Amino acid sequence: MIAEGFLFEFERRSYIRGGEFIPEVILDNPDLVKVMYEEFVHAGSDVVLAFQYYTQRVQMQAVGREDAVEQINRIALRLAREVADKTGTLMAGNISNSTIWEDGSVEARENIRRMHQEQITWAVEEGADFILGETFSVFEEAMLCLQSIKEFGNGLPAVVNIQPGPGDLLPCGTPLLEAKQKLEAAGADVVGINCSLGCNTILPHIRRVRQALKCPVACIPAPYRTSHQYPTMTSLLDPVTGERCFPDDMDQMLCSRQELINFTREMQDINVQVVGLCCGNRAHYTRLMAETLGHTPPASRFSTDMSKHISQRNIEMGAKPKENWLKLAQPVEVGK
Ligand SMILES: [Zn+2]
Repeated sequence: MIAEGFLFEFERRSYIRGGEFIPEVILDNPDLVKVMYEEFVHAGSDVVLAFQYYTQRVQMQAVGREDAVEQINRIALRLAREVADKTGTLMAGNISNSTIWEDGSVEARENIRRMHQEQITWAVEEGADFILGETFSVFEEAMLCLQSIKEFGNGLPAVVNIQPGPGDLLPCGTPLLEAKQKLEAAGADVVGINCSLGCNTILPHIRRVRQALKCPVACIPAPYRTSHQYPTMTSLLDPVTGERCFPDDMDQMLCSRQELINFTREMQDINVQVVGLCCGNRAHYTRLMAETLGHTPPASRFSTDMSKHISQRNIEMGAKPKENWLKLAQPVEVGK
């Protein structure tokens, strides 16, 4: 299991600007990044994913900090390695979609390949156990990432995840299944889907991917209440105002804890080997998923137990049951 979602969680904590989502927090407050790594492992993540998302040269240029591109990547990787070593988990280097892909542009392709080369090289040098490429909505860019991992990854395993649209075609027009099959044939060790789709709208896609492929598959949705009408997190509308929720008003659309448990059970039934959550993930979700998978992470020490609720303790100390909190939980009848 793998916990992701660093960008959204740091935005929520006010260390990353929403919209541009460039993780300068790694340079400015590295201790906080280490704490989030530790928090996710404490909650049950088997992998410390180095926070290299949107730390590519092109994004660092956008915030005027290109000089720090190597530094930001190495800090993210070193802290991840440190936490992985301390906790006996795996450390993964991370390659994200570049945002500069242009169909047919040799220059853009070469620019992206150079950014892959430097990020993968730094990940190898800092001791990554595998490389995770993700959030590709252009098939050719996903394939380029796989080729770069093969070329520069010093033999490290490659996990390549695609961010599909709501239908059977990727936003680039390639059928999702065809993209997955080509990645498997080209030697990806794990092929999967991540981000954008919610826990329910990702299900039909991952079922088909699981049936079509022989290699291990990954399913890492965004934990929001997407639907047939609003299948992606960016399409969600506020049910009260009708305004678009992305990017600032997403919290109200988060999945319930029970929905996360149900999703994890589905993953077990479908036989998905790598599960996790992307944008919107928080430690308690990771803990619930780990527990649903039969694990007992350190965070399980604090899993909910209503027998320890104050009302129960009051009853044990002689209070009358009428004071039970359940009375407060009854709906108010209108007009009374
Ligand atoms: Zn995401």
